[in-house]
Amino acid sequence: MQAKTNPACPNCGSMYKRFPPGREDQYHVFCEECNHDFGRFDALQADYEHVLSELESHLKALHPDETKKP
Ligand SMILES: [Zn+2]
Repeated sequence: MQAKTNPACPNCGSMYKRFPPGREDQYHVFCEECNHDFGRFDALQADYEHVLSELESHLKALHPDETKKP
């Protein structure tokens, strides 16, 4: 999963990051361009919560059939 969000990478200035495939706290978030390690996902999760929510909303919009269950 990729997303363009703050902060910019201190190494290459890219704002694209590679997020873990789920909300598992053992994963780190990496720069998409140079693989800079932004640290453990659980430490960043609060900051990226809104990004994840937006991505999930986007995915649900792309695949409405999978989320129709009550
Ligand atoms: Zn980078």
